[in-house]
Amino acid sequence: MRVTFLGGLGEIGRNCLAIEQDGRIVVIDAGLMFPEPTMYGVDLILPDFRWLIERRDRVDGVVLTHGHEDHTGALRYLLKDVNVPVYGSALTLGFARHRLSEAKMAGSCTFIEVHDGERRRIGPFDFEFIPVTHSVPSAHALAIHTAVGVVVHSGDFKLDQTPIDGRRTDLSRLASLGDEGVTLLLCDSTNAEEPGFTNSERSVGGALRRLFLERPDRRMVVACFASHLHRIQQIMDVARGQGRKVALMGRSMEANVKLARKLHLLHADAADFIDLETVDRYPPGDVCVICTGSQGEPLAALTKLSRGDARFLRVGSSDTVILSSHPIPGNEWSVGRVIDDLHRAGTEVIDSSQEPVHASGHARQGELRTFHQLVRPRNFIPVHGEYRHLVHHAALAESMGLAPKHILLCEDGDQIDVRLDGIRRAGEVPAGLHYIDGSAGDLDERPLEERRMLAEFGVLLLTAGIDRERGRLVQPVRVTARGWFDGDTDRELIAAVTETVRAALDEALAEGERDESALNRAAQRAAGRLLGQRFRRQPVLLAAVGVF
Ligand SMILES: [Zn+2]
Ligand SMILES: [Zn+2]
Repeated sequence: MRVTFLGGLGEIGRNCLAIEQDGRIVVIDAGLMFPEPTMYGVDLILPDFRWLIERRDRVDGVVLTHGHEDHTGALRYLLKDVNVPVYGSALTLGFARHRLSEAKMAGSCTFIEVHDGERRRIGPFDFEFIPVTHSVPSAHALAIHTAVGVVVHSGDFKLDQTPIDGRRTDLSRLASLGDEGVTLLLCDSTNAEEPGFTNSERSVGGALRRLFLERPDRRMVVACFASHLHRIQQIMDVARGQGRKVALMGRSMEANVKLARKLHLLHADAADFIDLETVDRYPPGDVCVICTGSQGEPLAALTKLSRGDARFLRVGSSDTVILSSHPIPGNEWSVGRVIDDLHRAGTEVIDSSQEPVHASGHARQGELRTFHQLVRPRNFIPVHGEYRHLVHHAALAESMGLAPKHILLCEDGDQIDVRLDGIRRAGEVPAGLHYIDGSAGDLDERPLEERRMLAEFGVLLLTAGIDRERGRLVQPVRVTARGWFDGDTDRELIAAVTETVRAALDEALAEGERDESALNRAAQRAAGRLLGQRFRRQPVLLAAVGVF
């Protein structure tokens, strides 16, 4: 049995791996990752699916552990080339189907719903779907019965003993798998650096209730992930308990609540809701707005609210905004700006740094230890985390008594052979970041690097015209700059570059050079050297020297 890691090891996001036996492949999760601010124009980052696409005839299905974007968001890009059945819980598939229908692909995809505790043959494997608690309902860990024994994949999980829907992580099944013997454990490492135990989701409800009670006359606006249905349920319950009506704001919030009510995963009466358009007709103390945008996403509801750009709703001094979330690494700056703009509007803002209005969905060290203790794997590979999380999780496994030779630290692209007698590295496959620019499609590293240079240093265009016969400049060297300082710095710089390029061209012409591209290269080289030495800058240099 072979495991190929295609994403999620060394980063939070784009989770994807493939397991292979008897020449058949099953994919587990196909997630996306959101770009860093310096990845200009990049909208999404995907796993590199080339390895899978080359083997598409051998792929039997995609199994989704849960409905988060970092596990399902790349599905449409994978299914486009590898159209195989998708397995998951009703909610997970509901979220996935919604995204695929946005891409007009849902009709051509096969969805196969699985239930808690179910065992199902997928390709050469027997998959067992074990309930786990997480920050989205209906999440699963997987027990995969293979030719070399059981592989347990934890999925994303925490051990919440008081979950909102009463659906606990099935510890007893994990323990009995441990008794029968588990060959390999792949386990969520997100919070492996954090000691102790993650708070129960229920603790957030208590905090929200108190904050609402202390503000009977204020309008409460609560932002959270649209997939966090248990959070939404708790906000709604608190609001309802105080006789507040609930208005939903944000497209995904509306769509997810609708789906969850249909699946009976969210309990609410139609009478609890009011349309966002009518919110202003109610006294502030009679209303609660639940919105998207807790990560400062540029187009989401809370961001628009903070800028006064939202339709139907303005926030001001009679509003309290609660960010029921924790910024994902990389989003801190955007979240900070949203909070600042809300303050500018006179709004009271409460976030998880002030009040316990958020609980993580991932297991901390205490829960990870429990998981390891129940499953007692013979071999372990930490997954789902930045590199330091994987290292800490590996150390935790060692401290639980697993010998170092049975623990492997892997990264994206690594292939591992799993045998009855142990695991070992088998090779590597391409697994770089695959950038998607919404307007342009795929994006390689090179144009992205150019965008960085453009953003940091600007661009310089060098033009000149040369008479081939006489070997002389007939149109003078001109330098046009974009993205530089104005005024004297600019003038001095442009004069210096003009002079240097002219000298370089004259020299090349004197040596008999008439080739257009060689002359362009000479101009670029001379300008580049000067800018690097004198101005310590490396703008994008474009030369358009014509030989006539
Ligand atoms: Zn998750
Ligand atoms: Zn995840």
